[in-house]
Amino acid sequence: MPILGQGQLIGVDHPEPDLAESSLSVKVLMKIREEIDRTSPTLSFEFFPPKDDIGFWDLYRTIESLKPLDPTFVSVTYGAGGSTRRKTIELVRRINTDIRINSLAHLTCVGSTREELGDIMDELKSSGVNNILALRGDAPAGQETFLATEGGFSFANELVEFIRERHGSFFCIGAACYPECHPECPTPELDLENLRRKVDSGVDFLVSQLFFDNDDFFAFRDRAAAAGIKVPIIAGIMPILSVTQVKRFTDMCGATIPAGLLDKIEAVEDDTEAVRHIGMYHSTRQCHELIEQGVAGIHFYTLNRSTATRAIFQEIKTARRSQIKTGMEQ
Ligand code: FAD
Repeated sequence: MPILGQGQLIGVDHPEPDLAESSLSVKVLMKIREEIDRTSPTLSFEFFPPKDDIGFWDLYRTIESLKPLDPTFVSVTYGAGGSTRRKTIELVRRINTDIRINSLAHLTCVGSTREELGDIMDELKSSGVNNILALRGDAPAGQETFLATEGGFSFANELVEFIRERHGSFFCIGAACYPECHPECPTPELDLENLRRKVDSGVDFLVSQLFFDNDDFFAFRDRAAAAGIKVPIIAGIMPILSVTQVKRFTDMCGATIPAGLLDKIEAVEDDTEAVRHIGMYHSTRQCHELIEQGVAGIHFYTLNRSTATRAIFQEIKTARRSQIKTGMEQ
């Protein structure tokens, strides 16, 4: 496929470029907050780094193949193990410099001292990565609760402060938020107070935990605004592809599957295609409503299986393009 310009490609699955299309496609690598301010809603994908080299290059090619969709950014998660951590850094660097899509490096406090975290952010900076999602992280496998490493941090707000202290405004910093409350926090009010502290320590934007009921997100967004949290909140969306998998995830992260949706997918549990169809339909509807209600961005949890999210992404982009076109014609 001939490359016409940054993020603008012509190919079989790429519609004819028009004025509205090119305003969506022209893209230079920049901080995510600037992207949100310039082109919201942003549309982005999340991947986790595979353990081995074959998986790494497969994923690299998958991400490369997303380029014609012109995602605002691609994020790469940060695991508990040392080898996948190196792969996170390597992958975000390559997404930025080789594939030329904005990348967002997740970084957690798990198992690292302040100095070690400092070294990682220095490495990200020298690799040209300027977006970090600063997280506390979860307890590693085999450990009941999160325990701060000696000489490390207990909460994400401390990591955010440290990044600002060490690198000033070089990094655009994102952080996590929980429309249905973080599972360890006793009340949503306290969780919001903690979130406010985190944002005040230097966060530029938030990415939400996955949710399946938009009303949870809208209510949370209103409560956050009322609590004085002014940074943009990107919505985290995960299309359901399997009943077992979604139950495992929601158990882990405390998100709720609305009863009606759960009944529907359980009724066809053994039919993978039917579950996938319902899941994709639900996520697509969620995305359309979020966009109508002025969401700052949509972040797709792909679980490294990009086909479903790619289809939803494409559908939303096409709808957005025609919205822009209609707006221009009026
Ligand atoms: P925090 O903001 O520190 O909050 C953790 C808990 O402590 C909350 O209950 C909060 O209310 C409370 N709290 C916060 N600050 C304080 C304080 N100062 N005093 C007292 N209580 C406080 N995990 C990974 O391991 N790798 C990843 O790449 C990863 N990516 C993620 C991406 C997104 C978008 C999301 C939503 C989650 C991600 N996670 C990841 C999971 C995340 O690490 C867990 O949800 C973790 O339990 C909390 O992380 P946090 O940064 O939100 O923590």
